[in-house]
Amino acid sequence: MDIVLQQVGYLYAKDSPFEKRALEEVNATIPSGSYTAIIGHTGSGKSTLLLHLNGLLKPSEGSVRVGPTVITSDTKGKSLKDVRKHVGIVFQFPEHQLFEETVEKDIMFGPLNFDIPEEEARSRAHELIKLLGLPPDVAQKSPFDLSGGQMRRVAIAGVLAFNPSVLILDEPTAGLDPRGRKEIMELFHRLHVEENLTTILVTHSMEDAARYADQVLVMHDGRSVLSGTPEEVFGQAEELASYRLGVPRSVQFQRDFEKLTGTQLGRLALTEEQLAKEMAVVLKEAGGRR
Ligand code: ADP
Repeated sequence: MDIVLQQVGYLYAKDSPFEKRALEEVNATIPSGSYTAIIGHTGSGKSTLLLHLNGLLKPSEGSVRVGPTVITSDTKGKSLKDVRKHVGIVFQFPEHQLFEETVEKDIMFGPLNFDIPEEEARSRAHELIKLLGLPPDVAQKSPFDLSGGQMRRVAIAGVLAFNPSVLILDEPTAGLDPRGRKEIMELFHRLHVEENLTTILVTHSMEDAARYADQVLVMHDGRSVLSGTPEEVFGQAEELASYRLGVPRSVQFQRDFEKLTGTQLGRLALTEEQLAKEMAVVLKEAGGRR
């Protein structure tokens, strides 16, 4: 399900004294099956953009096409509901929205509301418990008796229970420890690959954007100012700095190393593993010349 934004503009509290422009002339294409990272400083418009991708906000200007559905400022309820069925959104700290007595009931809540038969909703809940790496006995436990990382997985299962074809993640690892962060990011990557889920990640982590995404979109002052593959975007350190954004640690290390030694690595090292490989090539060549 491709998503195409054309000249999207959005004004909060439009036509009131508090009117505030949050998006301006945003153009972007998110191809079906892709993994897109959206980066940008606080206040650059990332959350506002996300809310347009699943029909929670309608553009004040321009259009958002999600699969066959086109949303403009005139679009009415039914189309927005269709979009919400296909596009799941995991908000920051999603575990704050858990409320049922058991994990199973919590995961089933959304599908039951969408008139999915109870047995189907239950079997999907059990599949998801397994898919998300939770022990089977959590089904009958209270979500509030679980660890923070497990609660977050249950909340994510609640979003996946709708079988979305697009999954939007707004800072999904906020507040987790480094190990929990890595596990959750690996989980989303696995879902992206195995379930062919179109994935859209808003993150402050340049490392996660570089490691997992195949396209990066940079927001600044409500505009989409730069986009491309991680190599293309993170190869432009000076431009990113002008938007108050950095590059992944491995890329910064590579830049410092290249400057200090006067050597060039073969390609941009988006991850520590790539950096080690590229440095090994250069060091072996240098050893061979000795
Ligand atoms: P980000 O997610 O990148 O931090 P946001 O999309 O939250 O950016 O915000 C974009 C701009 O819109 C900011 O200037 C912000 O202050 C403003 N904004 C966000 N939400 C509201 C709102 N509900 N009412 C008025 N202005 C808002």
